[in-house]
Amino acid sequence: MSTVLAGHGLVKKYGSTTALDGVDVEVGERDSLAIMGPSGSGKSTLLHTLAGIIRPDAGQVLLRGERREDGSASAGLERIDNLGENRLSALRRKRFGFVFQFGQLLPELPAEENVALPLMLEGVPRGEAVARARTWFVPLGLEGLERRRPGQLSGGQAQRVAIARALAVEPDVVFADEPTGALDQHTSTEVIQLLTFATRETGAALVMVTHDADVAAHCGRVLQVRDGRISGHTQYTVV
Ligand code: ADP
Repeated sequence: MSTVLAGHGLVKKYGSTTALDGVDVEVGERDSLAIMGPSGSGKSTLLHTLAGIIRPDAGQVLLRGERREDGSASAGLERIDNLGENRLSALRRKRFGFVFQFGQLLPELPAEENVALPLMLEGVPRGEAVARARTWFVPLGLEGLERRRPGQLSGGQAQRVAIARALAVEPDVVFADEPTGALDQHTSTEVIQLLTFATRETGAALVMVTHDADVAAHCGRVLQVRDGRISGHTQYTVV
């Protein structure tokens, strides 16, 4: 398995609380990893540290080097946790996609423009960005909803728009923090199926925090976190 993202010896403290206590994790190409564990065990801190949002107090976060023009990946992993804030936020925009519990779509923009926004931030002209954004609506079962504003979408539809937004930049890794946490069970199953399928189709890896074992079971692997440490690891056999 070729590694896309890795955390080595990650430590994060908040005062006397140790949120991460020396975590090692590797994420491979097309890997899908669910992070589970009790509330307060360090799941969100781990996700945000891997995503370059939280800087660890010790340890390193490494990301595969950028793809070359000819499409081949450059050799090796590069350390990202020590980059300056500007480079880090540019890297997050370009190499990572994010899906949160409450879609966090911009309410005043139609769905297709929400999806196009990360592309426009990367300098893709508006018309092209919206055209590329629209290509996601059919595969995600959102046909006909392109011009709806988030307030006119159901929770499940809004979450599918958020998935399209995360994938539109063709990221190396999609991070999802309780992506189904606000949905009923039926909608939750639909959304997790689409999230894992669409992520795999684009070749991105998926790192997800969830408290729902049924949702985690859609991932290839589950990491159990307890008291800031990895306490268990389940690998599902892909048949
Ligand atoms: P989980 O996602 O598993 O619920 P978190 O990663 O959010 O756990 O938190 C791990 C521990 O770190 C908890 O004890 C939490 O209270 C603490 N913590 C997280 N973020 C902060 C913060 N910004 N300030 C202080 N303590 C924090």
